[in-house]
Amino acid sequence: MNGLPGEERILASFETLADEIKRYYKKGYRALGFLGGEPTIHPKIIELVSLANQLGYENIDIVSNGRMYHNRAFVEKLIKSGVTRFYISIHSHKPDIEDYLTQKNGSFKQKIEGLKNLMDLRKKGFFKDRIFLNTVINKSNYLYLTDFMHFYHKMGFMDFRFNFIRPDGRAYLHGKKMVPRYSTVMKYVKQAIELSKSLRVNVFFEGIPFCLFHRSEIRDFKNYIGEFRDGNKKISLGEAQKRIRFEWKERRKNELRTKEETCNPCVYNPVCEGPWKNYIQFYGFKEFRPVKKEVLHTDRSDKKLNSYSYSLHRSRSKRR
Ligand code: SF4
Repeated sequence: MNGLPGEERILASFETLADEIKRYYKKGYRALGFLGGEPTIHPKIIELVSLANQLGYENIDIVSNGRMYHNRAFVEKLIKSGVTRFYISIHSHKPDIEDYLTQKNGSFKQKIEGLKNLMDLRKKGFFKDRIFLNTVINKSNYLYLTDFMHFYHKMGFMDFRFNFIRPDGRAYLHGKKMVPRYSTVMKYVKQAIELSKSLRVNVFFEGIPFCLFHRSEIRDFKNYIGEFRDGNKKISLGEAQKRIRFEWKERRKNELRTKEETCNPCVYNPVCEGPWKNYIQFYGFKEFRPVKKEVLHTDRSDKKLNSYSYSLHRSRSKRR
């Protein structure tokens, strides 16, 4: 999804990134994430993490494709410099699919070595937080969500996040070859949710409109919505030589997702962000039909879910 073929991409300088890290620390932020492109290939990544650590950031995350972690000495350095949590983007348990999607032969092998290194270092107490796996659901892998979970669960992973592909960049150019229909994928989403209960692991989904969960009779679906877990992230990135700062949630809602008039009577309208905007160009809006009545249970012990129920309650009160 990131970038277009032939597009020139440059790494931000150490000075630019250091300024951003200091800027947000002064504003009171205490959690920092490195992501976008591939942070682990930045030549100053260790120095940048150390800087954040010395300033006093309490949580320092890295979202990475995980390939560099096959180098154990490098991972150890990252942890020592202050990384507290690792997110790995991995899209298959099958070498041929992973290598195809990442367009790099041997990518799967490196990632698996990297994951083993991380898991081993965690077991030895080098860091405490769990390791999170991020997967983009696309046409090559949606059939295998449960196989994927079994495979990585056997390696000790407990946290899975499946993001429905956002048809931007190359994913947009490949169109229907890469982007599946939501309604085709839901059967496998349901299976993944069922499996998460029996394996006792966490699974979340991003980018899926709520009416599809409803139609698939996933009654407790709100327990699995990634967007409810995200909080408000401030993003700082370099684009066309400029530094751009924005709230991820706002950009996602206002620019990347879309809804239509048919959503107006839907009970989930106040909290659902709709499908990815470009998806509509491939498959239209017919799959998304308003839900008139909420038939789902609420777990009152969960604060995030309570805020979800609260929004629904407020919207209903306003209509009365
Ligand atoms: S708001 Fe629209 S897209 Fe979202 S659940 Fe309702 S009908 Fe579906």
